[in-house]
Amino acid sequence: MNNVQDPLTGLLARQSFMVVASDWLRSQRGPRQRLVIIEVFGLSIINETQGLASGDQILRDVAFWLGSRFDPTQSVLGRWDGNKFVVLYEACDTECFLASVHRASLGSIGLATDLGRQAEMIRLHVGLCDCRSLDLDDLLTFANEALHESGRSATAPAYRFDEAMHRRLLRRQDVEKDLACAIESGAIGLWYQPIFSGDGRRIQSLEALLRWHHPRQGWTSPEEVVHAATLMGMGETLLQHILQEVCHGLHSLSQADAGFDSVPVAMNVSPREIGSLALRDVLLPTLRREGIAPERLRVEITEESALDSPSTSVQLEALSDDGIGIAVDDFGTGYSSLAMLDAKYVRQVKIDRLLIADLHKSDRRRLLVGSIINLGQALGLEVVGEGVETVEEYEHLRSLGCPLVQGYYLARPSPLESLIAQVRRTGAGLG
Ligand code: C2E
Ligand code: CA
Ligand code: CA
Repeated sequence: MNNVQDPLTGLLARQSFMVVASDWLRSQRGPRQRLVIIEVFGLSIINETQGLASGDQILRDVAFWLGSRFDPTQSVLGRWDGNKFVVLYEACDTECFLASVHRASLGSIGLATDLGRQAEMIRLHVGLCDCRSLDLDDLLTFANEALHESGRSATAPAYRFDEAMHRRLLRRQDVEKDLACAIESGAIGLWYQPIFSGDGRRIQSLEALLRWHHPRQGWTSPEEVVHAATLMGMGETLLQHILQEVCHGLHSLSQADAGFDSVPVAMNVSPREIGSLALRDVLLPTLRREGIAPERLRVEITEESALDSPSTSVQLEALSDDGIGIAVDDFGTGYSSLAMLDAKYVRQVKIDRLLIADLHKSDRRRLLVGSIINLGQALGLEVVGEGVETVEEYEHLRSLGCPLVQGYYLARPSPLESLIAQVRRTGAGLG
């Protein structure tokens, strides 16, 4: 095959890079080859504000800069995709290269484009793998993993693949491998944690939390499972499965004859799920088929997702019109916005655990949480204090007039049967 050059930068195009780099790797007998993947962040803003030609110029300049950094007889350079470059090399001083990436502003790369202050938007992130005796696929996988790590960090744009990353990668691959089977077999299930009235006597609703005990990795966090499902394109399958489990849960509650007949259950929906799925088309037909009133289902969303886009708001508004209560989760941290409380579709606001923790130790914290409670109530919203762990936190929340509470202090998440049995045994929790 003739080597194909990327028309924009003149570097090898992806497929050709794979062929040339594989040959080169086979022919080298040096102690170790290194592979870096370089990602250019901020291009979309430049494209939108300055036009595509400016974005193209930046890519050409980065390619030129890379070409000047690596000896062509001891390296293979390629353009990986839109904003990523890849270099397989030997005998270059890696520390020096990484240091230059740290310093890499547009100026030091020597870009010709006159971007003015927009230049500050551009950042390079690098993932490096310098492990011994690997084939090209592994070098790429590992460098890519390091690149992901660097993308998560605002302060460290370059990451080297290391043992800890390797362990995390193996774990993730293990989780991904068994995911489909776990959904199918029902090994991925739900535990339930009650939300109580402020006096702790009455269960107002339940929150469904994903649980999976992986056969080799042990308990996996819900975030890990949702993330794996998204990466594997199984987000909707997982959501359907969780919804089906919630429906089973709601039927069991109704049949339990323990006073749970009208208690709603909340499911968590992640930012990506809201962004990428037509949530209403997933939820409503299932509820209808199962004969469950929409009022018995609630959806908890993190603020980040709700703020994401107008289309998300439209979706949530439609769900709310159908009778599904929408709760804003983790309020007060991260992407917090007061404007969110003004959205028509919001029915409940859950004050994040971080604000509840150590409530008894800080006057300022109490003032802040008290104000959120008052504000939420003034707007006609249900307000929940979540993650209440101690009697002190609980008593302070009560004294601030928090109408609903949730947390280990009152009840930990548990399988539904245990929860029902507990309520039957003690008669507590339902008023
Ligand atoms: P979240 O929605 O904020 O759920 C509360 C988390 O805090 C749960 O962790 C719960 O077990 C834990 N928790 C409850 N009370 C206390 C307490 O008093 N102290 C402490 N330290 N923690 C408490 P979990 O089950 O590990 O879930 C973590 C996150 O994963 C959830 O945070 C939610 O965002 C997400 N998640 C859980 N289930 C699902 C799901 O089915 N789908 C999606 N997309 N996300 C889910
Ligand atoms: Ca939640
Ligand atoms: Ca939360």
